[in-house]
Amino acid sequence: MSYENPLHRDLAGRAAVVTGAASGIGEAVAVLLAARGARVALLARRGERLEAVAGKIRADGGDALAVVADVTDDTSVARAAERIRAAYGPADLVVNSAGVMLANPVDDGRIDEWQRMIDTNVTGVLRVVRAFTGDLVAAAADGRAADLVNVSSVAAHLSAFPHYAVYAATKAALTHLSQCLRTEFGPRGVRVTNVEPGLTDTELRTHLDNPELAGQLEGLFEAVGGLSPEEVADVVAYVASRPRRVNLRQVVVLPTAQV
Ligand code: NDP
Repeated sequence: MSYENPLHRDLAGRAAVVTGAASGIGEAVAVLLAARGARVALLARRGERLEAVAGKIRADGGDALAVVADVTDDTSVARAAERIRAAYGPADLVVNSAGVMLANPVDDGRIDEWQRMIDTNVTGVLRVVRAFTGDLVAAAADGRAADLVNVSSVAAHLSAFPHYAVYAATKAALTHLSQCLRTEFGPRGVRVTNVEPGLTDTELRTHLDNPELAGQLEGLFEAVGGLSPEEVADVVAYVASRPRRVNLRQVVVLPTAQV
């Protein structure tokens, strides 16, 4: 299903930054924002994947910039922001989709996985927020729309899945962070939206290194049927294209059969 309507360029003039744009939800968001007229900077670690997505956007008439960046690295994020500002000027639509989901019994003590998830899913978002806060506040002060969209997860509210405790905790932190940031950004005209998808068909689940848990998750996808990344991207484009005084604070988007 395609949500891309070439006549519907309601994001023309926007300068967007999308983290995690090498695959999945971030890739679909980047493609859709570009199709709706935004200039889009794509961030992730895999340069070849970013170039391929950016190339696809340009072939379809859009404007895209591939920027290799690791959200767990302060300098990498700061340099990416400089490069984006040099190319597009200040960003006014920042989408944090970079994330990792790793799962194992807590007894295994996988501090490597815990640190990676916390540093990517929480501190990584904060690094990006730090890099672009000035841009967003300035855009709003100019009377333009300015958006920070964080891709959290319905996992922020679920405690019935054993072995995903740390992932769920990072998403609960992100959901709460989004809500608290509204108190700093909202009065200055910057919208903050927290999007919580349910099961979505991406490569996220392929990073599990526990075969039993990977099998369980596959079974859940077969039973429920995941959303497509494009269906989640449609929500992001929707919230960013509302009149600027309208802020969808929290959107939970689930496959209909997921309870
Ligand atoms: P993907 O694995 O397809 O996308 C994750 C993206 O994040 C990749 O493009 C990856 O690119 C990037 N990434 C990972 N680590 C880093 C890093 N250190 N620096 C920069 N980029 C990084 O999965 P999804 O699209 O599903 O995940 C996107 C978001 O959606 C995540 O935050 C996830 O938690 C959330 N989510 C996903 C759900 C699902 O069922 N799929 C459900 C609910 C929420 P690269 O490896 O090249 O850096």
